[in-house]
Amino acid sequence: MFFRIRPFFMPNLLLTARPFSQRNPFDPEAIAPSIPEDQPNDPIYFEKGDTREIGKKLSAKIYKKIAVMTGSGISVKAGIHDFRTPTTGLYAQIEDPDLPFPEAIFDLNYFKLDPEPFYRISPNLITTNKIPTLTHYFLKLLEDQGILLMCYTQNIDSLEKKAGLSSKKLVQAHGNVDHSHCTSCKKDYPISELRQHMLSKQPAFCECGGTIKPDIVFFGEKLPQEFHSKSELILYADLLLIIGTSLTAYPFASLAQMVSPNTPRIVINKGGYNAFAQNGFKFDSEMKRDIFFDGDCDEIISDIVKDTQWDDSLKKLVERKN
Ligand SMILES: [Zn+2]
Repeated sequence: MFFRIRPFFMPNLLLTARPFSQRNPFDPEAIAPSIPEDQPNDPIYFEKGDTREIGKKLSAKIYKKIAVMTGSGISVKAGIHDFRTPTTGLYAQIEDPDLPFPEAIFDLNYFKLDPEPFYRISPNLITTNKIPTLTHYFLKLLEDQGILLMCYTQNIDSLEKKAGLSSKKLVQAHGNVDHSHCTSCKKDYPISELRQHMLSKQPAFCECGGTIKPDIVFFGEKLPQEFHSKSELILYADLLLIIGTSLTAYPFASLAQMVSPNTPRIVINKGGYNAFAQNGFKFDSEMKRDIFFDGDCDEIISDIVKDTQWDDSLKKLVERKN
């Protein structure tokens, strides 16, 4: 049979409901961020556009409102595989005869009908034992230096928070595995209990009969309110860093087009030059507004930081947390 019949009521799989008030989804600071009053100054482009120049400009705090967009590439060295990479990505490794296509595993309608394929791969989504990468700590470094406007991430691993980045500087556009709720009545559930179900690959059901899922944004779901409420902040960025993503997922990718047309943009990613160029990035312009580094995020960030005064600060962050 294509779809398995879901038990309507399974007392042994019930989780204890947590009152909504404990989750505090209406944190005023999260919903209504303070918008900088001043507009960006005159843009400061690059002369050479190499890591040395960028390091020196960062260190001199020429840029004071840096927006960062990140993707799976920053978590690869933490041992977290992305979804789409051929052969190593999560989709490529899914061999589930029940699934019509690999992406169905994150399709809300499919999940409601048959949550078992999702739960079978869900141990891969638990990253509590993973250690942040140098790039995650670099984000914390920017915050410590008072020049991080906001970090927008597509990642659901929460390694930014583990590296110390504060919640007010982080937008997890595709959700996370830190919270969970019932897909029918929306009741909130403690993630600690859901993790046990994820580890044992057993679907968890609400007392209403609905299926419980972590707060990852599935296909068919809206992005979190936080993404929409904080996306306008990027209008005020005086520098945009795009790290570890090819920006193929929308609406997240549209943030890169929302910055001021004068805001410099630095891309650090393995591949994707042509895709960026097709989306309006001009890496070979004499003006050097857009810069592209093709390679390993951690290595390029490390090179940049060598030419700041923050080498020791970054090392201390890494040592303290590890
Ligand atoms: Zn429910």
